[in-house]
Amino acid sequence: MDKRDYYEVLGVDKNASKDDIKKAYRKLAMQYHPDRNPDDKDAEEKFKEAAEAYEVLSNEEKKAKYDRYGHSGLRGGGAQDFEGFSNINDIFSHFSDIFGGGFAGGGGSIFDDFFGGQSSQSRGRKRGTGTPGSDLKVVLKLTLEEIATGVTKKIKIKKYIKCEVCSGTGAKGGTSVKTCPVCNGSGEVRNVSRSVFGQFVNIAACSNCDGEGTVVDSPCKNCSGDGRVYGEDTIKVNVPSGVTSGSYMTMRGEGNAGKRNGQAGNIIVVFEEMPHDYFVREGDDIIYELYLSYPQVVLGTEAEVPTLNGKAKLKIDPGTQPGKFLKMREKGIQHLNRHGAGDELVRINIHVPGKVNSKEKELLKELAEMPNIKVSN
Ligand SMILES: [Zn+2]
Ligand SMILES: [Zn+2]
Repeated sequence: MDKRDYYEVLGVDKNASKDDIKKAYRKLAMQYHPDRNPDDKDAEEKFKEAAEAYEVLSNEEKKAKYDRYGHSGLRGGGAQDFEGFSNINDIFSHFSDIFGGGFAGGGGSIFDDFFGGQSSQSRGRKRGTGTPGSDLKVVLKLTLEEIATGVTKKIKIKKYIKCEVCSGTGAKGGTSVKTCPVCNGSGEVRNVSRSVFGQFVNIAACSNCDGEGTVVDSPCKNCSGDGRVYGEDTIKVNVPSGVTSGSYMTMRGEGNAGKRNGQAGNIIVVFEEMPHDYFVREGDDIIYELYLSYPQVVLGTEAEVPTLNGKAKLKIDPGTQPGKFLKMREKGIQHLNRHGAGDELVRINIHVPGKVNSKEKELLKELAEMPNIKVSN
């Protein structure tokens, strides 16, 4: 298979800075991350392809070789050959440094959670300690005002909760947990089948104990031996400022409780920005359309404009042209990972009345003939 051009893969041009390359990669990695695209082979390939491109373009030496000789420059060059990533976990461990940035506002880093050790740990099934609980996804709608400063939200969630009666063991008070007689505690059963091609050994999780290797003698009545019950819980989410629709946060261990004290799943909180009545967001800036009358922009005025936390007075100079942006510094959204905030940009528009009365009509006609008003065309 022919490899795509690395610059094309990352969507950057040849003169892109190191920072741009990093940003482009981070974006793709988020988009095609396997946790977001479970069982999607195409996304996995894209994820690997992006990692490979970034591996080369972020390394000056490799980048120079690639710029000069293309893909062939990276092969056959001795011990430092680039071979690509065979497996996803390589990518996590390889690039963990670039995703480890701090995430203000508590709750841990999106990138950390995303690219951290979770991949290898919680995907596998841990035998002997119950069955792991599944992850839950929660969409959290936020107003622009909440996003601007960050907010702590409490959300009610229906999920499996550890059974308090049996402390999650699934066993009725006083009774014990014993080794599963079907699999003798191994948690798996082997089925041997023979065919003309030879002998096949098929290993499957034991259905008697769900692969746990243990069963309870006498199940707890409250949870029917599951060690967990379906219920409701309230979780607190510390939303940092500056999040965007689609960005999310993983709350480890807050998802469904596992069966019989198995590891709990995670809650993935996906943020959704609600449209605002009069602000439009652009990055961390917000845009406000201010409508003024023609005399107001000609003569200058003081206008009152809404801000994310109230109102502000804005001086309009005489002769201000429509379309002009007036900047209110740091009145926008607080940045996600760094200090400071975006701006509020106020765009000047002229209000044109749909109808006028006879007196206004007279005055406008008179005005239209005045030397500084008249437009010759
Ligand atoms: Zn119970
Ligand atoms: Zn068993």
